[in-house]
Amino acid sequence: MLCELKERERAGIINPIFTCQPCGAQFVSIGVKDCIGIVHGGQGCVMFVRLLISQHLKESFEIASSSVHESGAVFGACGRVEEAVDVLLMRYPDVKVVPIISTCLTEVIGDDIDGVVRKLNEGLLPEKYPGREVHLIPIHTPSFVGSMVTGYDIAVRDFVSHFATKTEPNGKLNLITGWVNPGDVTALKHLLAEMDIDATVLFEIESFDSPLMPDGNHVSHGNTTIEDLIGTANALGTLALNRYEGGKAAEYLANEFDIPTIIGPTPIGIRNTDTFLHNLRTLTGKPIPHALVRERGLAIDALTDLTHMFFADKRVAIYGNPDLVIGLAQFCLDLEMKPMVLLLGDDNPNYKNDPRIKEMQDNVDFPMEIIANADFWELEDRIKNRGLELDLILGHSKGRFISIDYGIPMVRVGFPTYDRAGLYRHPVVGYAGATWLAEQMANTLFTDMEHKKVREWSLNVW
Ligand code: SF4
Repeated sequence: MLCELKERERAGIINPIFTCQPCGAQFVSIGVKDCIGIVHGGQGCVMFVRLLISQHLKESFEIASSSVHESGAVFGACGRVEEAVDVLLMRYPDVKVVPIISTCLTEVIGDDIDGVVRKLNEGLLPEKYPGREVHLIPIHTPSFVGSMVTGYDIAVRDFVSHFATKTEPNGKLNLITGWVNPGDVTALKHLLAEMDIDATVLFEIESFDSPLMPDGNHVSHGNTTIEDLIGTANALGTLALNRYEGGKAAEYLANEFDIPTIIGPTPIGIRNTDTFLHNLRTLTGKPIPHALVRERGLAIDALTDLTHMFFADKRVAIYGNPDLVIGLAQFCLDLEMKPMVLLLGDDNPNYKNDPRIKEMQDNVDFPMEIIANADFWELEDRIKNRGLELDLILGHSKGRFISIDYGIPMVRVGFPTYDRAGLYRHPVVGYAGATWLAEQMANTLFTDMEHKKVREWSLNVW
């Protein structure tokens, strides 16, 4: 088999690709309206995650910490959660949803956040805040298993399972976007609107591309409401775009409420966007309008100008969130490129059953490695010591030093991307995303050829 799925064999991580589970849970919580999460752990578990998300989205938003100190680490810190909830509710009278997100420390010392939530529901809330709607949701995200991706998946499931309540059918579609940018949400909403589909877009962060208004600074928040979450049990179907970022919630809704469900594929590139539209049609019965056929045609026209002439046989390395990496790899293959190395930053045992990976293993006709539980050294070592030659790197900003040190052009994509302007605004999903991505890759290759004084390119009249 030319395409191998393997695990990092070396002990220890050198320059991790991902951060930990609580980060994913925090990213989910910012997508909910009237919600501020409390991260139960040391302050750093919030401070650096919040910084990362802020650097990426260039917006300000709020997340709290129970701020566990030495005494709590030794004797238990459930009292810190009780105090944190009380302070939060006093200070923010509009807050209705408070996820309690555990961390490695508080999971190791065995703090019972489910028990704290029961205690607060029976004591503090009815006694001090009678009549106020408050939902406390324990979310277990120890950092010694999984990654920020599994943390996202768990948190989506826990929010949905907390609220989903069967009443009357609402005729809406649940769309679980996964870990995307505001620009992706805009692009997805555009496709839904063109198909005249009424959808609940879950953990919706479009407004994290916020305006600066004359009346002052804007604190960003998500747009998914409590009513949206309750209504997920009454939808006509669920479409989860990503297998590893929302798949658990989609399975929960299917198992618990018998809701027709489709998981994936991530709509990156033409063929996956085609499948996405077909899946929308399957779940809603709505036809695909001519306007989207035309949009598709424009994207294919743009790609045709680039594919064979510039992309063919270009060797690419891709790293980041697994659904994104696999979607980008499929897109690169469609563009006649050679994704030589895919780096998936955690050890999810389900990768070997992923049909997209199996399809690549069945069809790829050049040596390709897919490395689970990977770090950046897996890539650097191959370039530095094992003769891997690359034309392009696709990934988030944390891997930029490999690009800089080895002179390999790079397109920033994924999370976090903080060293290029405005990337959160541009979609990578849908036909618009396919066009934007391909043109970014092409322009990056063109700029590189100029810097390296490639004669054929300098004389080109394309
Ligand atoms: S690894 Fe543990 S201590 Fe560090 S940020 Fe994650 S949860 Fe907090």
